[in-house]
Amino acid sequence: LVHAVNVMKSFHGNEVLKGIDLDVRRGEVVVLLGPSGSGKTTFLRCINQLETIDGGRIWVDGDLMGYADKGGQLYRLTDKQIAAQRRDIGMCFQRFNLFPHKTALENVMEAPVQVKGVKKKDARKRGIELLERVGLGDKPAAYPAQLSGGQQQRVAIARALAMDPKLMLFDEPTSALDPELVGEVLAVMRELAASGMTMIVVTHEMGFARDVADEVVFMDGGVVVEQGPPSEVIGNPRHPRTKDFLRRMR
Ligand code: ATP
Repeated sequence: LVHAVNVMKSFHGNEVLKGIDLDVRRGEVVVLLGPSGSGKTTFLRCINQLETIDGGRIWVDGDLMGYADKGGQLYRLTDKQIAAQRRDIGMCFQRFNLFPHKTALENVMEAPVQVKGVKKKDARKRGIELLERVGLGDKPAAYPAQLSGGQQQRVAIARALAMDPKLMLFDEPTSALDPELVGEVLAVMRELAASGMTMIVVTHEMGFARDVADEVVFMDGGVVVEQGPPSEVIGNPRHPRTKDFLRRMR
């Protein structure tokens, strides 16, 4: 579903991604691990074109992201075309960014109604189903400020799912949460993975990575240092930098 080749990105001469390759099959869960500043967030943002890449190519479900390829010549897509590509990719950030003046249900309904033109009645029905799915069937009328961080993040997940994404990107979805709220968000993510959603997840939650990931990718300094099943990368790391990182995580 995702095919990234030699992805490069610099900010003001600072090379943050130095040629990243990644393949994610449909239904697979890939966890990106790595120290702060290794480029994980930047790579996620490149996948859905929140950043423009300087080199390489990224395909999502056969679509070349950000460009049209006409006989080998690449043409940058318009903002509107890029927005259309991004529509099929759900994203959950560390900060949930819910609309504070809208209820949980209104937050979930917003994009389908505004972007896809779904009828309000249908968006409402689906929104309630999605809130039930993330364990918030009793909170449709609550405003974000009335919800815990874990509940807000679950609304954010439901909001992303409301667009029927092919792919979900998670950027440290639990790292802003109080420890006792982490489990409820991870439980929703586990259920999502079990349902067959294709997911790329940046997280420091080793238990999640070990249990849920099909593939773990360890990044450091803008390159992939080591990748493989969790039993190898986490259970039996080969590279000294992976070993060092995992030792410090404990
Ligand atoms: P963290 O776990 O801290 O989020 P990360 O692995 O996700 O780390 P990135 O956030 O991708 O790392 O950042 C990698 C590097 O790119 C950092 O040195 C950061 O300062 C730099 N960087 C990221 N975005 C920008 C930007 N918009 N402008 C300039 N530099 C940036």
